[in-house]
Amino acid sequence: MRRLGQVVFLGLTAFLLRGEGPAPLRGYSAEAARIQREWEAKFRAIPSPENLRAYVQRLSARPHHVGSPYDKDNAQWILSKFQEWGLEARIETFEVLFPTPKERLVELVEPVRFVARLQEPAVAGDPTSNQQSEQLPTYNAFSADGDVTALLVYVNYGMPEDYEQLERLGISVKGAIVIARYGASWRGIKPKVAAEQGAVGCLIYSDPRDDGYFQGDVFPQGPYRPRDGVQRGSLLDMPLYPGDPLTPGVGATPGAKRLSLQEAKTIARIPVLPLSYGDAQPLLAALKGPVAPVNWRGALPITYHVGPGPAKVHLKVKSNWDLKTAYDVIARIPGATYPDEWIVRGNHHDAWVNGADDPSTGVSALMEEARGFSELLKQGWRPKRTLIYCAWDAEEPALLGSTEWAEAHAGELRRHAVAYINTDSNGRGFLMLQGSHTLEKFINGVARDIEDPETKMTVWKRSQLARIAAAPQDRQEVRQRPDLRIGALGCGSDYSAFVDHLGIASLNLGFGGEDGSGIYHSIYDDFYWYTHFADTDFRYGRALAQTVGTAVMRLANAELLPFDFTSFADTLRRYVGELQKLVNDKRAEVQERNRQIEEGVFKATGDPKKTFVPPAVEPVPPHLNFAPLENAVDALARSAERYEQAAARASFQSVESVNQKLIQSERRLTDPAGLPGRPWFKHQIYAPGIYTGYSAKTIPGVREAIEQKQWQEAETQIVRVSKILADETALVESAAAELEKAPR
Ligand SMILES: [Zn+2]
Repeated sequence: MRRLGQVVFLGLTAFLLRGEGPAPLRGYSAEAARIQREWEAKFRAIPSPENLRAYVQRLSARPHHVGSPYDKDNAQWILSKFQEWGLEARIETFEVLFPTPKERLVELVEPVRFVARLQEPAVAGDPTSNQQSEQLPTYNAFSADGDVTALLVYVNYGMPEDYEQLERLGISVKGAIVIARYGASWRGIKPKVAAEQGAVGCLIYSDPRDDGYFQGDVFPQGPYRPRDGVQRGSLLDMPLYPGDPLTPGVGATPGAKRLSLQEAKTIARIPVLPLSYGDAQPLLAALKGPVAPVNWRGALPITYHVGPGPAKVHLKVKSNWDLKTAYDVIARIPGATYPDEWIVRGNHHDAWVNGADDPSTGVSALMEEARGFSELLKQGWRPKRTLIYCAWDAEEPALLGSTEWAEAHAGELRRHAVAYINTDSNGRGFLMLQGSHTLEKFINGVARDIEDPETKMTVWKRSQLARIAAAPQDRQEVRQRPDLRIGALGCGSDYSAFVDHLGIASLNLGFGGEDGSGIYHSIYDDFYWYTHFADTDFRYGRALAQTVGTAVMRLANAELLPFDFTSFADTLRRYVGELQKLVNDKRAEVQERNRQIEEGVFKATGDPKKTFVPPAVEPVPPHLNFAPLENAVDALARSAERYEQAAARASFQSVESVNQKLIQSERRLTDPAGLPGRPWFKHQIYAPGIYTGYSAKTIPGVREAIEQKQWQEAETQIVRVSKILADETALVESAAAELEKAPR
């Protein structure tokens, strides 16, 4: 264990000596950087693959969804490890709504009878796959209760554009049960759109094309989804607000004021169940009507038809709507110099079933970081700022544990939180970077100091080369730009309350991309699967602990906090360009379609023997005035440059009040009124999309107004975001001015 660590330490030192010596550390004087680098190297020698393997095995030994005995047991075990390592730690509990299934039924009643199994079988040789009494049955949490019988319609991924296709075919889903395949969006969008279209029920199945035999061998021969594997998952309308549906905006403490079930707007409006492809195939095979469009066809050995019917389905769902207790484990290492400046780090510990990959690999890395810091503390290291380490419960139902904690501590977090760093599942391959662009330069710097376990190049270099290979159109930029661009955050994991609701600069990190997987949210995401098909020797688990631990230490002890606004302004300029292109493309598309309607193209090409409904003439999108936004981005870019120069010359003495401004810089990007129609989401630059879910929409107020063809609203939002950016610019200007005056 120790010997392995030593090798890494020497390897990296040799790497640093080969070049012109270590690169300067952002926010550190030369002497402080030298000391910091020594401690970081000591830290990176500590995380051990053997420990990670043992933690993952222990955490995933039994099913541990929120409300289960082993979920609580795991929380207490994580607490005991933190305490064993000498850290101040405790459990904070919240009472959250988490429905569990009471009745589930899917049966084909016409033209033939078939009853879906709705059960994942144990696999011989996989020792935890038979723990049926503790496994949550296959279901989608927050489905409406209901008992419906109706004709079936296949709707592809169930996205808004799929319904436009159905309209061309003259097919309505009003009064029908739809069957959608998983993929293309977050699952909760599918029943949301189906209900908006008038459907009375929704089935979501895993097509083998997306994560089954079309991709590779299925479990237990390979990593992909077997015939009866089912993706569980939550349907809660997170783009409206994540967290406990009964307590939006406040912590779900025992005395909190709660909405009634009827008042909670994030619960699905129709009954929904997930299916394996074993269960879905007889249903899809019983459909007639038009053959599905080419890109709607999956990999089942059938001809895909759309319906409606003659397949008629009976769907019944009933849940137990109890409150369950969520156990958040919170450890704290007090800062020696600035105890009121907090670096918050989190990963969830609850799972849908055994959850070896999701989330045990991530929370195990978090634990190794905490153990590493406890070792450093014994050797005399002190973080200047306070570290808060959080193992969240109830992430899977819709980020309940982290959201309730963030809402309960909102006041102090707004004052004290410097940044939040999240991880979740971890795998083998490339470092994935997402987050606030004010931290883009910072996290690139960290990635340059981490060794890739397999290639021995830095994880930064490996990611850069992978991007050159993957995206020919970006090659030039990837080669020339000093930093790798990081992705924007949506709401796929526990960072959402921090960045979207509170305006705390956040990062989401993880390795992956090398191995395939089709066990997501099934009973087969377990220790046996992970140790056969993923990061089997836990070396990427160690790399994750090294990456995040280094980032935490570097933020904790920086003299000047390492925020940068040039990358942020550069990214904003791209976003504004995307918005302009979006309007222009829409205009060109509508103009062309209107012209074709006039020319009679649809009349000429639609087969008169088949139903085809030509599209209607649409008003042409107007030109929008993006000037306020372009001017605001230009002004921010100028201030960012001024700040950058001031920071480069700063002596780092008496920069406390500059740091205070930097801490508030992400807060400035929020508006207390929130986004249009969803006040919980305060951030004006990043949000999950209303119709995409997990994935981000940037400058969401403007972008979604354009997508929904609300042109007046788009103009209003352009002005609003411009004002937010002007406020940010004023803050960056004053930070720059203060640094220019500081002693050299
Ligand atoms: Zn997860």
